[in-house]
Amino acid sequence: MQTKLLNRTRLQLAVCYSLVMGLLLGIFGLITYQVLIRAYLYSIDQELQGVAKAFHRNLEHVLSEPEKVSPGLKEVLPDLCVVDRPCSKSVAENAFENLHHKMLEVYQNNYYLRFVSRSDQLIATSGFRPTGLPLTPGKIEWETLQDRSGDRYHQISLPLHTSNQQTWGYLQVGRSLKEVDRRLAGFQRVLLISVPISVLFVGLSSWWLAGLAMRPVQRSYRQMQQFTIDVAHELRTPLTAISATIDSVLRMPTVTESESREAFTTLERQVSRFLGMVKDLLLLSRLEQHILTFQPQTLCLNDLMSDLIDEFTALAEASNLALIAQIEVNRPLEVLADEDQLYRLLSNLVINAIRYTPAGKVILRLHQERDQAVIQVQDTGIGIDSDDLPQVFDRFYRVSKDRSRNTGAIGLGLAIAKAIVEAHHGSLQVQSQLGSGSKLTVRLPLKLSRS
Ligand code: ATP
Ligand code: MG
Repeated sequence: MQTKLLNRTRLQLAVCYSLVMGLLLGIFGLITYQVLIRAYLYSIDQELQGVAKAFHRNLEHVLSEPEKVSPGLKEVLPDLCVVDRPCSKSVAENAFENLHHKMLEVYQNNYYLRFVSRSDQLIATSGFRPTGLPLTPGKIEWETLQDRSGDRYHQISLPLHTSNQQTWGYLQVGRSLKEVDRRLAGFQRVLLISVPISVLFVGLSSWWLAGLAMRPVQRSYRQMQQFTIDVAHELRTPLTAISATIDSVLRMPTVTESESREAFTTLERQVSRFLGMVKDLLLLSRLEQHILTFQPQTLCLNDLMSDLIDEFTALAEASNLALIAQIEVNRPLEVLADEDQLYRLLSNLVINAIRYTPAGKVILRLHQERDQAVIQVQDTGIGIDSDDLPQVFDRFYRVSKDRSRNTGAIGLGLAIAKAIVEAHHGSLQVQSQLGSGSKLTVRLPLKLSRS
């Protein structure tokens, strides 16, 4: 179920990402295509205008009568074909020798020339002769036309005057766009192929990336599941014990006062263990979610250490251990902290040291390192294997569950200690060697350095 949900989210992420990328690539391709078309057309128009103007300049000298083809015109344009008169298809090679170089382009680059009367009748043509090209009014300066085979032409139209300033008609110069269209079609094809391929690659890589992004979610989901299992498991133990105690009392035909007192004492012990666990869990989740409000107050760590020694000496002695204080500062070290929480943190460490040290000593050390107060709880106990060290701060983690269960330990002590230290902007580190003992180091910012 969880894998299905995560996979669906992963797929949704990958699809959304591919769509967005596809859209962006499409827009980018379209813009590039438009820019390319404009650039091509601009350069063609410039060229066309240059050619048309060169003709215009040279032809106006040889025009004498309006709408009449003068012999001079035929001289300038050897291939001139007048409407309703037979025109020769072949022109002598040296016929163009005297032509202006701009004008020569007409005969090399698929240009056509059309002479149109003032009433828009075709008079003569020269240059390339496209079939089925519609005749357009001379007054329209720029025009894009299409011939019968679908090839496009860009055309410019200029008014012609005779040598005595009479309006002769119009000169229309057109250029084939076949080559441009061919190149643009090629570019279009490249776009049409490359965009879907790129989107496919983007899709695959985003599927992979979404998988990477989902990993922490997957991990925390698994942790949550594990946590629920652990909580249920740990809560079941005291509840089973409570239920068993009640059951055994109910089975008795009669219950004496001392028996009921004994049963209630057992129940009280089990319930308080149960409540303690629930309180610890609540504290932990509030600390981790930063919703626990506490009033930091100036706290003297030297005093706190003395209190801890007073509190735990009896417990240590009961386990045949020496609890030693080493205060390596000659002035009181003050921190801004919540007293109850700091006490809880350090007592968790001291209890662990006593609990996991069969013989030897437990040392409580206080010293200063730059702007930090350093408290160390060191023991000569069983130590922790290096494989277990990274997990000891995890909730419900116990190196030896059997041993811990006998001592009533549930594996929340170090998780709570770490959460408290972090809430006070400090750090908690563990160093340990199996069989030689452990050292837990708490670092807290000193009051002066923070205020
Ligand atoms: P709780 O503190 O909730 O009563 P606990 O002591 O088992 O239970 P933690 O204090 O979180 O839980 O410690 C986690 C585990 O780390 C312990 O079960 C123990 O195996 C190991 N551990 C912690 N402190 C020491 C120590 N000083 N020496 C050896 N092992 C330790
Ligand atoms: Mg503990």
